[in-house]
Amino acid sequence: MSLVMEKIDPQAVELTHEEIRRYSRHLIMPEVGLAGQKKLKAASVLLIGTGGLGSPLGMYLAAAGIGRIGLVDYDVVDYTNLQRQIVHGTSNVGQLKVESAKARLLDINPDIEVVTYNEPFTSENALDIARPYDVIVDGTDNFPTRYLTNDVCVLLGKPNVYGSIFRFEGQASVFYAKEGPCYRCLFPEPPPPGLVPSCAEGGVLGILPGTVGTIQATETIKLILGIGDTLIGRLLLYDALSMSFETVKLRKNPNCLICSDHPQIDRLIDYEEFCGVPSHDHELESAGEGWDITPKELQGRLAQGNHIRLIDVREPHELEISQLEDATLIPLGAFAARMNELDSAEELVLFCRTGARSARALDLLRTAGFRKLKNLKGGINAWAREVDPSLPTY
Ligand SMILES: [Zn+2]
Repeated sequence: MSLVMEKIDPQAVELTHEEIRRYSRHLIMPEVGLAGQKKLKAASVLLIGTGGLGSPLGMYLAAAGIGRIGLVDYDVVDYTNLQRQIVHGTSNVGQLKVESAKARLLDINPDIEVVTYNEPFTSENALDIARPYDVIVDGTDNFPTRYLTNDVCVLLGKPNVYGSIFRFEGQASVFYAKEGPCYRCLFPEPPPPGLVPSCAEGGVLGILPGTVGTIQATETIKLILGIGDTLIGRLLLYDALSMSFETVKLRKNPNCLICSDHPQIDRLIDYEEFCGVPSHDHELESAGEGWDITPKELQGRLAQGNHIRLIDVREPHELEISQLEDATLIPLGAFAARMNELDSAEELVLFCRTGARSARALDLLRTAGFRKLKNLKGGINAWAREVDPSLPTY
């Protein structure tokens, strides 16, 4: 039984007759019952992110009757979100995600309270936002926020329900330093920047965050009810292609920088600096000052008859969606090996879908001594929006 439930006082709340009817299928199970349902109502859960993981998390936690749900996000709903972020609908495109999600959760269950934080979760606000909540759930899936959430939870003594997703594979665990390891016990250092692609770069099967987010919601409910064996001390690995689940035992690191007996970290740090990447799930679209060219600028240079070689660093299957005339395809993964096909005397413009992969290819060329280089800012998607609307964006 977890320590989490000790702080939750089911005596503090009552259920109305409507609520008793709503939760009937919980109430008839001895593992939940009236006492358990009151615990759920007395409990508060903070969801960081209202995207792929946050969607099923928020909807199931609302339906289950969690009394207070906090939502942190600063984004607006985009068409590319709808393939997996099922808390948002087509009519919500362009709205603030926290407002869109709040409306959906309150439609599922008007008896709960939904608190919104329309701001990024950062070292400056994270402790204040998280402090009033019993359980913290990380639904953001990027490294700076993952370390930030971990450290916030260790410093505040709260459980951190973790999930991560990539393409067809997912992971979940509960990091709770009072009873088991924390995320830093497992991964003291973040991976080198760029080594682990984000879902925005690598893609994700739309259903995958549904499965992983639902597992996170299940663990959250179990923590609050104090039932079953939670994922504290275990990492769940899910592979949708082979449809397999495995669990790996996790150990507390006696030298962990934050949760050991002699912690060296006693306050929040700069997590973007620590991880070397920005703390959002979007791609960077720029190669840095002086190295970008906008679609309009490129159109102008080409119209003037300048000889410019266009290098497409996307994957071959992406050419089926959109392509630029006369571009040479060198996928980013093959770039280092095929750089010798390029001439440093030629003027080169690199592009990909949104400008992130091409910025990395540009870095490789710059390191190799190339100077006549530009990155198409915003990628072929920006070109489609600003220059050639006959091309689709994706
Ligand atoms: Zn630790």
